[in-house]
Amino acid sequence: MEKYSEVIKESQMYLELIAKKELTREEKDWVVKAAVEAFSEHVNPGFLEYRKSVSTDYTSVEWSDQGSTFTDVYGKEYIDCLGGYGIYNVGHRHPKVMQAVYNQLDRQALHSQELLDPLRGFLAKLVAEITPGDLKYAFFVNSGTESVEGGLKFARMYTGRKSYIVTTRAFHGKSLGSLSATAKGVFRTPFLPLVPGFHHVPYGNAEAIEMMLESCAFIGEDVAAVLIEPIQGEGGVIIPPDDYLPRVREMCDRYGALLILDEVQTGMGRTGKMFCCQHSNVVPDILCLAKAFGGGVMPIGAVVAREKIWEKLVENPFLHTTTFGGNPVCCAAAIANINVLLEENLPRRAAESGEYMLGKLKGLAEKYPAVVQEVRGKGLMIGIEFQNNELGYEVATGLFGAGVLVAGTLINAKSIRIEPPLTITREQQDAVINRLDKVLENVNSSAGK
Ligand SMILES: *Cc1c(COP(=O)(O)O)cnc(C)c1O
Repeated sequence: MEKYSEVIKESQMYLELIAKKELTREEKDWVVKAAVEAFSEHVNPGFLEYRKSVSTDYTSVEWSDQGSTFTDVYGKEYIDCLGGYGIYNVGHRHPKVMQAVYNQLDRQALHSQELLDPLRGFLAKLVAEITPGDLKYAFFVNSGTESVEGGLKFARMYTGRKSYIVTTRAFHGKSLGSLSATAKGVFRTPFLPLVPGFHHVPYGNAEAIEMMLESCAFIGEDVAAVLIEPIQGEGGVIIPPDDYLPRVREMCDRYGALLILDEVQTGMGRTGKMFCCQHSNVVPDILCLAKAFGGGVMPIGAVVAREKIWEKLVENPFLHTTTFGGNPVCCAAAIANINVLLEENLPRRAAESGEYMLGKLKGLAEKYPAVVQEVRGKGLMIGIEFQNNELGYEVATGLFGAGVLVAGTLINAKSIRIEPPLTITREQQDAVINRLDKVLENVNSSAGK
């Protein structure tokens, strides 16, 4: 009892902190110290070690955000070129998304799980309207991992087949099912055996998929689905040849396998079209969405599918369920997100800003060839590949010091990603380029010694 009265006091103190508009200098110092201690004792001390390798100040504590920037607890501002790995397409805390969430919260937060919750229906309708081709039904989830998990299950459910073709360097999530599709050995090895029936082939190579489809058919293990990212994000912004998706689409049809596109990162305008598959006019059977789908405010994802895929799910809607997936607050955010993306023409802006930034970055790559190996991208999904891992860490660290946050790919900085909000201004883009130029100049001159 004594212990719990302390817990009540402690939690009350956190609540007061959350409610504060301004912190005093002492409170700021306390937040940093307490956060570092709590992470070290109760979250994971390894995370602090990792932070030391990628930042000039590993104790930086984020506190507020707006638009394309966020600030640490002391008010240092960062231009967000990491974009939460692709969450913040409409920017941080877009007013229209926030208002939708406030309005919904004022009336109802979660749903009964039994009656019809209207927003789930309305959002599904909007999703059918903005997704390509005849994609029709949506199942809402809480994360990208869950959207892939759903896609994998629906493919087995519809085809009755068991195996999948996936690609090397792919990232699809880390639950046992989605991890089976993910490609990186370090993340998979400790958890073997995973779901059986996953065959990894090199990414970007349509022949490799065809050979595997043929082999699987030959040995009597027909493929339920081919699952790919239209551009690999976590793999380091890997852009496949233009004819890759159309060819994979055609061979899936020929072998009776479904095509699942994981657009968790490439979707919602990121690459210059609402969905990346629209660059090549390919319609998947199942489309996986998450990350930016909730407007950078709420966690929500979707598995979107053609009508035929739902057959078994119509017979028994409880074959696959989730308690929180598609709850009213998250749906309100996702509806506002779609409205903002279209009204502010953000896919188009991503294409224009991406072209501008890519041009500038290619200029820097030519200026510092000893540091930068290649720059590539589509829309505002841009990757910078360095000559080696160490140079990548140095540049990411230098940018952090200069107030620009970028993303390494998980446990590797040979490629870093530039994925700012699609609303990033030209002025902010120029600031990023100028700061990167200075950082590259420093890294270049110390690398030459
Ligand atoms: C981030 C990501 C996922 C996993 O999403 P979570 O929300 O982290 O579970 C899956 N696929 C792709 C392509 C991703 O980028």
